[in-house]
Order: sequence, then structure tokens, then C-alpha cells
Amino acid sequence: MYVHFPFCRHKCCYCDFYSVGTRDKEAAFFEALHQEIDLQAASEDFSESTFATLYIGGGTPSLVSPQFLAPFFRHILAKFNFSQDAEFSFEANPGAMLRDHLKVFKQVGFNRLTIGVQSFQDDELAFLSRIHSAREAVQAIHAARECGFDNVGIDLIFGIPAQTIKSWQATLHTAIRLAPEHISMYGLTYEAGTPLWRQEREGRVQKCDEELERDMLLLGMEMLTEAGYEHYEISNFALPGFRSRHNSKYWDGSPYLGLGPSAHSFDAKRRWWNVDDIDVYVAKLQAGQSPVSGGELLSRHTRLHELILLGLRCAQGVDLQVVQNYTDISENEFLDRVTGLFGDVARVAPFQESHDNALLTLWRGSLGLTRAGLLLYDAVCKNIFGVMAIN
Ligand code: SF4
Repeated sequence: MYVHFPFCRHKCCYCDFYSVGTRDKEAAFFEALHQEIDLQAASEDFSESTFATLYIGGGTPSLVSPQFLAPFFRHILAKFNFSQDAEFSFEANPGAMLRDHLKVFKQVGFNRLTIGVQSFQDDELAFLSRIHSAREAVQAIHAARECGFDNVGIDLIFGIPAQTIKSWQATLHTAIRLAPEHISMYGLTYEAGTPLWRQEREGRVQKCDEELERDMLLLGMEMLTEAGYEHYEISNFALPGFRSRHNSKYWDGSPYLGLGPSAHSFDAKRRWWNVDDIDVYVAKLQAGQSPVSGGELLSRHTRLHELILLGLRCAQGVDLQVVQNYTDISENEFLDRVTGLFGDVARVAPFQESHDNALLTLWRGSLGLTRAGLLLYDAVCKNIFGVMAIN
């Protein structure tokens, strides 16, 4: 289950997640959220489900007033079934992470915290228009520990204009020294409509050189795996036993329920999403109406397309049995077609180097990317769809 808390203190220049810059609608939002919980709990979609994870994202969940948290958490636990060992995560921003807030999250039962660090360099944080300094990012990790969180993740960004391989290396060193259980590292993207995207289009910002960005990715992979982190998804690394169970559900194609403005839901056949406007969200729920604003029925081809896109991102790869179930192409036929297009398939664990420079590897009945393939993820996916003649 995903719940979207749509409040940020300030909009970061690269971000296209839905959020608003003030919290004056916080009380109305939580009232509406409680109504949405009731609506969903009474509907057939997920009322009988047992959820393994709850993830509070945003927005900046660590910004909300603590008095709303306990009633929200009690309500959701009362209305839905969660497994005994469920993972309860929330996102925090180092610039909006008061110890009092963290203690409340901990007290009400959250057992995992993801901190949006992004960089340990002040100039890079300023470029990204983050509301915190590198020092505050370090302090945030210490604060999480002091408040009793023993499962902490951090997000990092590489490919920031003016970032150098040296400054990225310094950020990775600091991250490794602080030893969070989970590290995500993403290349900076220029999402249409964001201020950063406009700046780039107007020539005021120059994108990071592609080769440099590739070297940064490789450096991150090398340093984090050497430090004992398992590389289990293209952008995600975890100490043993600390993979994000919530994100793993997205990647393996499990159904999920999303609550809050802009949240998406998926029941294995259909995807639907809530309105991305807090005023409309509140008004609809006040009127007893669903906040869903759109949806789509996924064809078998689209499902397979998605399972391949997601599977190749992960170290476990794409189960060939799944391909066979979705198409009339047998495992052997599929492998023949893949070999015809990409050359020989290696037999190394996904994301590892293959001596013959193969892009794909067959490992434990699944097709995965080698290290060379990982660097060409988009191109490999595109061509694999050609192999199956699906668009
Ligand atoms: S704090 Fe997070 S959600 Fe809010 S604008 Fe920045 S990146 Fe987006």
C-alpha cells in the first residue's frame, strides 16, 4: 500500500511529483484521507487483501504535523489487514526532520525510513534547490539512529551539472561511512514541465556529459558492492536482508493500492489513479465520491511489456516461464530469437561482467542484464520487444 502526503516546504527544481508548498490544507487532507481509507476498505478491490508493506511517500511526509500521524496509522491498521512482519516506511527530508517527528513515526509503528539526501556536497544541493545542507543530511541519518531506526535508506543523485567524478566519489564515501542499510542512486532526469527542464531547454543549464554519467554509475556500483551492498535493482543497493520490500513489490508486478492525491493503484489487470489536486481530492471525498480520475485496462502485451521492463531492472531478471505464459513463444524459441539479435547469452549472475561482452545473461531460468547490458538498458528493452513482435 502506498499513501501520498502531498506537502513540501519548497518545490525542488527537478521534481515532478505532485505536492503543494503550504500545509494550510493539512487538516482537510487528513480528514479526506480517512474517508478514502473507509471507501477503499468497503470496496471489493483490496478489502480482503493482506498487505506486506505500507509506504508513505510524497511530498515530504516528515513535514506533517505529528498530531495527524497516530490517528491516521490507527485508522489504516483498523481498516486493512497487514502481515505480522509488515514493512512500514516513510520518506523524510533532511531539511524537515525534527527529532520529535521521527519519534512519533517510530512510536506509532514505522520501522523503516528513507531520507532524501541526494548529495553530500553543498553546491550540488544548492543546484538541486534542496532545502537542506550536506551537514544537515549527515545529522538526519544520526537523528534517525538516535530515534531507534535500524532500517534506514538514503537516496542519492548523480549526473548533476558541474558534479565531478571526484565530488561524486566523496558523496559515496560519506554514504558508505554512515552505513545506511539501503542506498538508491538515480541519474538526474529532466522531467517535462519542471523548472530544471525549462532551464535546460533555454540553454541556461548544460546536461552532464553522457560518458561522465556512465562513469559515475559504474563508480557507484563498484564502491557500493565493495562496501558490502547487494546490487539488486539497477538503481538500488542494500545490505544483506535490507532490500526494500515495498519497491520489490512494484518490480515483481504485485498488485498495490495507492491512497492520496495522484496515487496510483494496480490490481494485476487494471491501473487507476487519483486526481492530482488536493482541493479536488478533498472536495470529492467530502461529497462522498471517489477521488479516482482515470484508469486503464492493461492488455496481455502491455503486462508482458511491463514485466520485462521491470524484470530486466532487477538482479532476479525475467522468468522465462512468464514469457512463455504470456506468449505462444517457447522458452527455447525465445532464447534463439534473443541470441539471433543480441549474440550469445552469457551465464553469469545479472549485473556481473561477462568476458564475451554479452548484453544478456541466462541465470537460474531467468534472463537478466550483464554489466554491459545494464549500461544499455533502454536499447536492450526496445530490441527485446522486437524479438517478441510486441509494441
Ligand atoms: S522534497 Fe521531494 S517531493 Fe518535495 S519537491 Fe523536493 S524532491 Fe519533490
